[in-house]
Amino acid sequence: MQNLCILGSTGSIGLSTLDIVRQHPDKFNVVAISANRQIALLLEQVAEFQPDYVVCADASRYQELQDGLRGLVNSPEVLCGSEGLTTIASLSEVDTVMAAIVGAAGLRSTYAAVCAGKQVLLANKEALVMSGKLFMEAVAEHNAQLLPVDSEHNAIFQCLPEQRTTGLAGLGVERILLTGSGGPFLKTPIHELSSVTPAQACAHPNWDMGQKISVDSASMMNKGLEFIEAFWLFGVAQETIQVVIHPQSTIHSMVQYSDGSILAQMGVSDMRIPIAHVMAYPERINSGVAPLDFSALTALEFLAPDFERFPNLRLAMDSVSAGQWASTALNASNEVAVAAFLAGHVKFTDIAKLNTRLLEISEAQTFNNIDDVVAYDKHSRAIAHQLLKEL
Ligand code: NAD
Ligand code: MG
Repeated sequence: MQNLCILGSTGSIGLSTLDIVRQHPDKFNVVAISANRQIALLLEQVAEFQPDYVVCADASRYQELQDGLRGLVNSPEVLCGSEGLTTIASLSEVDTVMAAIVGAAGLRSTYAAVCAGKQVLLANKEALVMSGKLFMEAVAEHNAQLLPVDSEHNAIFQCLPEQRTTGLAGLGVERILLTGSGGPFLKTPIHELSSVTPAQACAHPNWDMGQKISVDSASMMNKGLEFIEAFWLFGVAQETIQVVIHPQSTIHSMVQYSDGSILAQMGVSDMRIPIAHVMAYPERINSGVAPLDFSALTALEFLAPDFERFPNLRLAMDSVSAGQWASTALNASNEVAVAAFLAGHVKFTDIAKLNTRLLEISEAQTFNNIDDVVAYDKHSRAIAHQLLKEL
């Protein structure tokens, strides 16, 4: 029996994780769950999975959560705020932490899980993007096991020699082919991008995801964040990672070896596949997803990314050479810009505009610890909010 903590249990990844638990009650026990403010859904999850701990990150919802739990037999312990999240991520009775909070809000708890030496199932790519080297050093120092949930990184992991993420030197890996669909605006005339709506941006052709990552997919910032994620996760030179547009999302990424062999991982676009993979790793369990039907497949296409259409992808790739501070600043700026776009305050094309401007005026800084990263993130957000007013 594996004891699970699910950070962000009410999100898209959180729900898929609980769906795998539901199918395998003999294998997984939910010890702790968390949400930001979706209390009604969190209460339903408490009733079904009977965790010992429940956290609402937004402290203003604490009373609502307490009231909802009143009278329940086996009522869980209730915690709130950022401390509540780091507490459940480090509980001694927890074996595995699913890090599925969206954005920088997930950094501290994901990092706490790593420092507690947990098996960490990483969906919260922003945590790694923001803190790269510090994060990977903590994984090594605390003997944590980091397994990638992101479908591309999970695919790459599956195509690498067993039991490996880092330490790829000498294994003949020549290239990591990071595929991306190109999102809903792959073929939209570029001049129309300034008038696309949040609903259009969130309507991803292949994947059903949370709003933030859906907008990131539409701007290809998601592929940019994934480029940075792959750089840190697999410890390869950035020239080794090549972004390939593959509109059908049937291949989830590939690894090319020096003898010319290319291994690909394929499947239906359903996150329950990589989630089931990391949850059961190194075993294989049923994910509840129907296998790929080759007779129903259309042609598989592959294209080079168009940086004029997707300036965010270029910004993210360049941030790796600029240094950690640039990736951290870009991530912060992007979160502010995406939230403003989703709220209808700025245009879709303003996201890249704001990100570009913020990187131009940000100052290089070295991070010695996670507090430094959090402070720089906060500082960058403040500048981004200021820049928004000037757009
Ligand atoms: P989502 O918006 O559906 O869910 C986010 C979860 O985080 C929710 O449980 C929410 O309550 C919680 N949350 C939001 N703000 C918070 C805050 N300030 N403090 C604490 N908790 C907070 O997001 P998602 O699509 O499930 O994505 C989660 C993470 O997984 C992201 O980092 C995303 O990039 C990554 N990811 C998602 C997918 C996907 O298919 N959805 C695929 C690959 C990677
Ligand atoms: Mg992905």
